[in-house]
Amino acid sequence: MTALAPGSTIGILGGGQLGRMTALAAGNLGYRCHIYAPEEESPAALVSAAWTRAAWDDQAALSAFAAKVDVITYEFENVPVACAEFLAPLKPLRPGVEALRVAQHREREKRFFERIGVPTAPFAVAQDEAGFVAAVRKVGTPSIAKTTTEGYDGKGQARLDASSDLAAIWAKLGRREVIVEGFVDFAAEASVIVARALDGSTVCFPPPRNVHRQGILHTSTIPGGFSPNIVRQAEDVGRRAIEALNSVGLLCVELFVTRDGRVLANEMAPRPHNSGHWTQDACATSQFEQFVRAVCGLPLGPVTVRSPVVMTNLIGDEANQWPAILEEPNAKLHLYGKREARTGRKMGHVNRLGAAAT
Ligand code: AMP
Repeated sequence: MTALAPGSTIGILGGGQLGRMTALAAGNLGYRCHIYAPEEESPAALVSAAWTRAAWDDQAALSAFAAKVDVITYEFENVPVACAEFLAPLKPLRPGVEALRVAQHREREKRFFERIGVPTAPFAVAQDEAGFVAAVRKVGTPSIAKTTTEGYDGKGQARLDASSDLAAIWAKLGRREVIVEGFVDFAAEASVIVARALDGSTVCFPPPRNVHRQGILHTSTIPGGFSPNIVRQAEDVGRRAIEALNSVGLLCVELFVTRDGRVLANEMAPRPHNSGHWTQDACATSQFEQFVRAVCGLPLGPVTVRSPVVMTNLIGDEANQWPAILEEPNAKLHLYGKREARTGRKMGHVNRLGAAAT
């Protein structure tokens, strides 16, 4: 395995909190990070050695960025595929273009899971209003319509039942390609984060139990309280997916655990994931350090759980609770340095450690 020695520079596409926490973990191992992001404000750039602020299609800026870094990764799966394809011949790009291509389109994602034998909710895709009506008829209700691209945290989604006004929902979703998914009456939500090293070895973090509010992750709890059979199925989904993509890096698959003990894949992200933030304070290796290890060709770290933990997201104004959180003896606060606490915006999270937390 050819490792990139500490002191090397990791180029990160995307400037959000996942890049920020990756850069902090990289710093602990002696690496430098160079952020490439078009936005005016970048939580990641605030803690990194360098920042290129340029558009995703600015080839001169991308070439100059590639020349200054030793390896390239991304913290954001909506980096345009064309940008990743431009960079891939210039420097090692991990986890690679294919993972990005699959993760940024919900139909491709579902078909990928089908291909590797991982069950999902039933679905149908529509390009126009008549197709939408037909898709809802095929899948049935209750169901959920989601735009196939660019939706996240419950955005670009609508719940459907037998009395839904489909014309209004088609308009609300922007008259663009949508996927209609059968509503899964799940017993729980979980996620599996798997790391894959350059030599093909894999390590899975234990799956947390995740609770969403309004489509946004609210808490992730470890231990998740799942049976060994569910944990085995979850790990199997993660390993099969990352191996099929031939990725080096991290992959998170969000899962539904059904009442009859099956695990269905919902969606995936080839990067650190919000449901893995608990690892920062309660695991022998954090997901961010594991990501850096994988991307830099280092051996993967152990994932022993050191303490029960509940990770709670701080959304919008909730971040103003920081003084009270700092008073809690078993709470570890993480804030992302974002200036504006807009509604629904992830501003930080808190990991509450210890048995009392569960
Ligand atoms: P997503 O953007 O696909 O991750 O969806 C956000 C959240 O909406 C999920 O974590 C679930 O809580 C809920 N959700 C999405 N799709 C479904 C589904 N097919 N059945 C039941 N709940 C869903």
